[in-house]
Amino acid sequence: MATTLTASNQEFKPKAWEEVPCPLCGGKNSRLLEQFGYQHRYSYRRCSDCQVAFQSPRPTYDQGFVETAYEVYSTSNDFYWKNGQLTEQGKIVATEFKHILEEIKEIVGRKGKLLEIGCNTGFFLKIAKDENWEPIGVEISNTMAEVARRQFEVQALAGDWVQQKYPHSFDAIYCSHVIEHIPDPRSWMKQFRAVLNPGGVVCLSVPNMNSIDRIFKRFLKRIGVRKDRWQPWQTPDHLYEPCEKSMRRFFKNEGFQLIRTYTYPSQWLGRVSLWHRVFHFWLRWGAKQRYYITPTQR
Ligand SMILES: [Zn+2]
Repeated sequence: MATTLTASNQEFKPKAWEEVPCPLCGGKNSRLLEQFGYQHRYSYRRCSDCQVAFQSPRPTYDQGFVETAYEVYSTSNDFYWKNGQLTEQGKIVATEFKHILEEIKEIVGRKGKLLEIGCNTGFFLKIAKDENWEPIGVEISNTMAEVARRQFEVQALAGDWVQQKYPHSFDAIYCSHVIEHIPDPRSWMKQFRAVLNPGGVVCLSVPNMNSIDRIFKRFLKRIGVRKDRWQPWQTPDHLYEPCEKSMRRFFKNEGFQLIRTYTYPSQWLGRVSLWHRVFHFWLRWGAKQRYYITPTQR
């Protein structure tokens, strides 16, 4: 997903707030990490059980919240695709997408039917189609799904992906920077299993709470060097900020096996240097995390 709300949007005033348990493990025990935003009522807490940082109280997940949280999403592919060809940025992103598709193929054993949840304006679907996959995308925004269909002639459905009727089940699900926006991610894991073929894989990308810069910023804040209001997260639409420990536990609880994980930077040229290997594959200090998982229970 593209960038959504920024620090300037933190004055979004919700109609109502709700106290919630940990959205990943259901744990009831947590400690306050940070309060910020509108009247300093936005609160991030850290779950004592799985360590995820999550909002509670958080804005009630109603239509007003959803519209505000997504209103600044891009409705154009100009950044990646202009006048019928890839832009410089588009070439970089296409390289990364092809790399992801290769990894999926390696795990699944073939190029097959792919579902993208939160397909935005369809650039990943286009690359997948060009690479001879059979992709279907779903996008909550009708405007973005329309752009995808018109510009790239891909199948992009509008609405809630859980409510859709699909012509078949899938060999792979791709869901990039979406699940941290969802109030009940555990229900999605059940749905993933329902639409996957046996041996199918889910590729999930999420932010990394334990990236090196976030660890450093938290340290500076703790020792009092950094006194300004800390805005490490996108709010209010990121309902939680996962770390690897929380995600591993989440997958296990929900009956999924972790096949592969690594972190990656905001811009990746697809090259794996020794430094990249150490930083992202071994230490896993990058800003974003990617997970490949497969159901263990059916
Ligand atoms: Zn938890």
